[in-house]
Amino acid sequence: MTDRYAVIGNPIEQSKSPLIHTAFAQVCGQAIDYTKLLAPLGGFASAVDAFRAAGGRGMNVTAPFKLDAFAYATDLAPSAQMAGAVNAMKFEGDKVYAENFDGVGLVRDVVHNLSCPIQGRRILILGAGGATRGALMPIMDQQPAELVIVNRTVAKAEELAALALAHGAGSIPVGGIGYADLGAQTFDLVFNATSASLKTELPPLSASVFAQGCLAYDLTYGKGLTPFLQLAKQAGVTHLADGVGMLAEQAAEAFAWWRGVRPDTRAVIERLTVPLV
Ligand code: NDP
Repeated sequence: MTDRYAVIGNPIEQSKSPLIHTAFAQVCGQAIDYTKLLAPLGGFASAVDAFRAAGGRGMNVTAPFKLDAFAYATDLAPSAQMAGAVNAMKFEGDKVYAENFDGVGLVRDVVHNLSCPIQGRRILILGAGGATRGALMPIMDQQPAELVIVNRTVAKAEELAALALAHGAGSIPVGGIGYADLGAQTFDLVFNATSASLKTELPPLSASVFAQGCLAYDLTYGKGLTPFLQLAKQAGVTHLADGVGMLAEQAAEAFAWWRGVRPDTRAVIERLTVPLV
């Protein structure tokens, strides 16, 4: 029987995961069946139980079930523990192995695809939600010169800064602040990890944060030139990116984890790219 995988969420219609994993399977010569699974709110565990009972081998997890998957897993990888959320599961007998590949996907896109080192650079992350939490460990592992997390709700930025500091063993300066406290600081890489772009909104950010030669990266994808990227462009930033590469890279990590072979992501990124205009 063909090995079965799925992405679970609610809603799920918008998910690009079947397209991505089917393309990966084709180029890697792997016979897999990958579908979308709509689970009712409150019905995550029974939907996953049924999928496993029918022979399912693994799942991607999207909103709003990343915390349910965290609770459901029997074996949490450090990435999932740090993120406090799960975006990929692998089923082996009674075991449910769980990972969070979002952060590693982001870093791989930035360092490898966009050829933009994080090591030794000043990093600013806007937002202190699940995506930022997942990105902390992979970013700190790159040894930036400094990491600042800025958020509307300052307490959440402070909490994540404390987590990152603990992971970096105190050797890398980390701050968690509000937008008003950014002052005249400038950064080499600015990540918009807020959900503002989904609502065509702009976090209260000054255009002066972008240093010369800066990369402005919006984790939201498929929206073209978001208000954040527009601000960066108007400030003279020429290196702009959205989260399409992150999406493809986290999927490639999950595929490699399940199948033992890592697909090239270029064709998928090209196919899903919406021009930043
Ligand atoms: P969460 O809901 O967990 O967090 C949202 C964050 O955005 C919070 O920090 C919130 O601040 C902040 N926020 C929302 N609206 C505004 C606004 N108008 N101005 C300033 N801050 C705002 O979301 P996630 O962390 O899960 O996701 C964040 C983004 O990352 C989404 O756009 C998502 O699509 C994208 N993403 C992309 C992925 C990819 O593969 N490319 C993977 C995962 C996420 P507060 O705490 O004050 O409410």
